[in-house]
Amino acid sequence: MARFHRLRNLVTGGAGFLGSHLVDKLMERGEEVICLDNYSTGRKENISKWIGHKRFELIRHDVTLPIQLEIDRIWHLACPASPIHYQFNPIKTAKTSFLGTYNMLGLARRVEAKLLLASTSEIYGNPAVNPQAESYKGSVNPIGIRACYNEGKRIAETLCFDYKRMHATEIAIIRIFNTYGPRMLPNDGRVISNFIVQALKGEPITIFGDGNQTRSFCYVEDLINGMVKLMDKKYSLPVNIGNPEEISILNLSKLITKKINPNINLIHKELPDEDPLQRRPEIKIAKQELGWEPTISLEKGLDTTIEWFKANL
Ligand code: NAD
Ligand code: UDP
Repeated sequence: MARFHRLRNLVTGGAGFLGSHLVDKLMERGEEVICLDNYSTGRKENISKWIGHKRFELIRHDVTLPIQLEIDRIWHLACPASPIHYQFNPIKTAKTSFLGTYNMLGLARRVEAKLLLASTSEIYGNPAVNPQAESYKGSVNPIGIRACYNEGKRIAETLCFDYKRMHATEIAIIRIFNTYGPRMLPNDGRVISNFIVQALKGEPITIFGDGNQTRSFCYVEDLINGMVKLMDKKYSLPVNIGNPEEISILNLSKLITKKINPNINLIHKELPDEDPLQRRPEIKIAKQELGWEPTISLEKGLDTTIEWFKANL
C-alpha cells in the first residue's frame, strides 16, 4: 500500500552510542523518529537536542516488554554492547536479545513494518578464519561468559529469519564490527574509549593479555551510513559492516598514546575469558549489494574522537 506520510521510524536503544547517531541521521533526512530506551547504558544528553522537535518523540521503555506503536521501520539496537555492561547482568542481556527482538518482530508483523536488527561480529565467536565472511558459521562457546551476548544475538538473527519465513516480515541484519567515535561513555569499558580516557587522565594504559589480539575499528559515521543503506535496500541476508583495517591492541595503544602523550606507561592485565584473538570483516557483500565501504581511516577517526573526549571529559 502506498504511504502518504513521512517515514515513521522507531529506534530502540536510540539514546545509546550508535542509536543516537542514527537518530541524528534520520532527523536530518526529515523523517519521523520515536526514540525508545530504558537508559541502562544510554543517556538523554545524546538526543536532548531533538527534544521538543515536532518530528521527534522519546519513550522510556524496556524492550523485554511488548509495546504497540504505529510505525513503518524499526531499527532494533537496544542491547548493551560493551562486555563489562552486557556481563553485568547476563540474564537480562539474554532476555533483551531474545524477548526484545521477539517483541519488536511481533510489532513489525502487526503493523507491517520493516525491522533492521543490530547484530554483531561477536556471532562469529573466536573465529578460526580471518577475515570473517557472512558465510562463516562461527566458533561460539554456548556456556562462556560472552554467550549471553553472542548467543543472544545468534537467536535474535534466528528469530528474524523465522518471522521472514513464517510471516513474510521484512528484515535486514547488520553484523556490526567494533565501532568507535564521539558519545562513547568514558566508563564504557571498550578499548578505544578506555585508552583515550586513560591517556587524557595521564593514567597507565591497560593492555589485556599480550596485546597481540586484533580488532578492526570502524568510525561511527561510516557505520551509520552503511546501516541506513542496508535498511533502504531490499537485501535481507546478513551483511557485515566494518572497517577491514586490522590492528593489534598493542599497536592501537601506541597510536593513541602517540597522539595524546607518548610518555604514558602501558600495563598488562589478565586477558578476559573468551576474548577473541582476531577479528576483521570481509565486506564484499556490503560493497556489491549496498555500494558501501568505509571512508574514514583509523588515524582520522581517532583524531575526531580524541577531540570529542577532550571537550567532554
Ligand atoms: P550502547 O550501550 O551505547 O547502546 C545500547 C542502548 O540500548 C542504550 O541506550 C541502552 O540504554 C539501550 N538498552 C539496553 N537494553 C535495553 C532494553 N532492555 N530496553 C530498552 N533499551 C535498552 O551500545 P551501542 O554501541 O550503541 O550498540 C547499539 C547496538 O549495536 C547494540 O545492539 C549492539 O549489540 C550493536 N553493536 C554495537 C557494536 C559497537 O561496536 N558499538 C558492535 C556490534 C554490535
Ligand atoms: N582491551 C584492552 N584493554 C582495555 C579494554 C579492552 O586490552 O582496557 C582489549 C580486549 O581484551 C579486547 C580488545 O581490547 O581484546 C577489544 O575489546 P572491546 O571490549 O573494545 O571489544 P570486543 O572484545 O567486544 O571486541
